[in-house]
Amino acid sequence: MSNPLWVVVSAPSGAGKTTLVKTILKKHPAFGFSTSVTTRPPRKGEKNGRDYSFISEKEFLRLRKKGRLLEWAKIHGFYYGTPAGPTQSKREPHVILFDVNRQGARAIKRISPNAVLIFIFPPGWKTLKSRLSGRGTESKSELRRRLTDAKRELAAARQYDYWIVNQTVKASVKRLEAIIAAELSRPARVVTGNKT
Ligand code: 5GP
Repeated sequence: MSNPLWVVVSAPSGAGKTTLVKTILKKHPAFGFSTSVTTRPPRKGEKNGRDYSFISEKEFLRLRKKGRLLEWAKIHGFYYGTPAGPTQSKREPHVILFDVNRQGARAIKRISPNAVLIFIFPPGWKTLKSRLSGRGTESKSELRRRLTDAKRELAAARQYDYWIVNQTVKASVKRLEAIIAAELSRPARVVTGNKT
C-alpha cells in the first residue's frame, strides 16, 4: 500500500470542525487521526490520547528540542504540536486526518505536498457574504469590522485546496467524503494500489 492520504482540516473557531472530524472518524473507523500534543488543559469530555495528548510545557519543549514534532504552534498561550510519525498505527490507515490551524496546514503541505488541505467556513459565511454585498442592516463600523475579519479569513483560506461551508453536519460530512474519495482516485494513488 502506498503512503496514506493526509487530509488536513482547519477552520476559524465556531465553524463546527471538531464535530465534523469526530463524525467522519466514527463513520470511517479505518481512518486514522493525528493526535496532537498540547499544553492546554483538557476540556470537559476530552480524553487524553484520543482528542489530544495533554502534556506539560516541559515535556512539550523536550519533544520539540528532540525533533519529535512535525510542526508546532503557540495558540492562545498554549503549545500545540503534531508528533512526527503520525502514520504509525496498528491498522495502517489509508487516510489520516489532521486537525491543525493555518500555520500547521502550511507546514504539513511543505512536508508532504500531496496532503489535501480543507478549510471549513462557519455556517454564517453565506449570510455574511450577502450582508457584505449590501443587503444587510449593520452599522457602517460593524460592517467594516466584519469585512476586515472576512478578508483575513479569506486570505488564509486561499492556501487550502477545498472549501466547505458548514451548513449542516450531514451535508459537510458528505462533502468531506466526496473530497477524500476523489483524492484517493487520483491516478498516482490508484496505480500505486491504494485502497479506497
Ligand atoms: P483547541 O484548543 O480549540 O482544541 O484548538 C485550537 C486550535 O489549535 C485549532 O485551530 C486546532 O486546529 C489547532 N491545533 C490543534 N492541534 C494542533 C497542532 O498539532 N498543530 C497546529 N499547528 N495546530 C493545532
